[in-house]
Amino acid sequence: LGPVRQNSENDHSPLKLFTHAKTTITGIFKNIASYVNDSNKYLDEVSKSDRNLIADDKHKNIQQLKDKVNRILSVISRDHMKVVFFGRTSNGKSTTVNAMLRERILPVGMGHTTNCFLQIEGTDKAEPYVLTPGSDEPKSVTSLGNVGSALSREKLDSDSLVKILWPKEKCRLIRDDVVLVDSPGIDVSANLDQWIEDHCLDADVFVLVVSAEATITVAEKKFLHNVAQRLSNPNIFILMNRWDATAYEPDEVESVKQQHLDRGLEFLCDELHLCDRKEASEHRMFFISAREALLSRNKDPTASPRTGFNEGYKERLDEFTKFEHEFEECISKTAVQTKFQQHTNRGKEIIALLRDTTANIANKSQTLKQELVQNLTQMDEKNNLLEHELRSMTESAKEKIRHISEDVYKRVAQTLND
Ligand code: GDP
Repeated sequence: LGPVRQNSENDHSPLKLFTHAKTTITGIFKNIASYVNDSNKYLDEVSKSDRNLIADDKHKNIQQLKDKVNRILSVISRDHMKVVFFGRTSNGKSTTVNAMLRERILPVGMGHTTNCFLQIEGTDKAEPYVLTPGSDEPKSVTSLGNVGSALSREKLDSDSLVKILWPKEKCRLIRDDVVLVDSPGIDVSANLDQWIEDHCLDADVFVLVVSAEATITVAEKKFLHNVAQRLSNPNIFILMNRWDATAYEPDEVESVKQQHLDRGLEFLCDELHLCDRKEASEHRMFFISAREALLSRNKDPTASPRTGFNEGYKERLDEFTKFEHEFEECISKTAVQTKFQQHTNRGKEIIALLRDTTANIANKSQTLKQELVQNLTQMDEKNNLLEHELRSMTESAKEKIRHISEDVYKRVAQTLND
């Protein structure tokens, strides 16, 4: 039953919107490539037979389309959905990412502070590896034990990006082209603008992980204000993490939740003007426990005991699943729009150029044909005229000859009579 359920879950994942769109647009561009090929063959023939039918620069433009279409196909193959996780150190960013990946990929907890950007993306290879800045040499994760020890040897500043290439077959999110970026604690960097410039401008979704024991900080707000200035209408989710701590204070839960909601909605709706309060409270803020979510999903039974769930954990697990669903819907819709809209427009331009050029040639050759027919008709008419003239000239010559011969005959007869 296991694999069957996994497949059907996978088929209904909102992420499929993106993967289907990617497959469809790849197919469309492959068709465009073969249309471009055929058109080029046709235009080569046309320009060989009559150079006036197509201008040289137009012909060159169309010859260059082949490379352009191939470049677009290669960009499409690399297109992905990108989410950036941010927040203060120890709020639970890495734990959240691991829970979503259903595996302890990122190092978490004490002594494993994420001090640079960590990007997790898919590889078709069977084994995971790490790429550090300034080196193309893949560093094996398995031989080093884990990502944490692969990174502990590196001296990295907070702006740098380490890529973790994880086998696609091991993880659904990664297989469906999601790239996840974990950032250093927002409290450790003074240069938030540089972060945004370097790592966030192509992000489809931002997830702010806040510790429910604290509140959204000035640095976190500043970061999002800067993001909203650079990107129009960014998609922002707020995760109030460590909500399992409320198990120790059950009487306070509702009032604390309301306080967090009020502050979060005020920020998203009144300060950033991203959406209305109803939308934000239903779709953008979630009260979760990344720790429990990871515990409940971890496939490795030796990694951690399946204990450690606090009272009321089921509700928090449901909330985490709800967040994931909203996140998947949001990221795939946004990525389809931002990434594929551009390609669609470019594809339309290419088709229009080919259609106009071939139509132009057809028009020109039609005009030439009409001119030819007209010329032939005129020549025909001239021919007829000439023929007529010739015929009447022949008639009159014959008449003249008849006259002359009659005259000669008369004269000869007269002479003989005389
Ligand atoms: P990061 O620095 O934001 O990436 O935080 P980590 O994910 O490394 O988490 C820091 C510590 O908080 C780790 O020891 C986690 O196990 C713990 N932690 C993360 N999420 C939760 C949670 O929801 N509840 C509790 N109780 N602890 C958590």
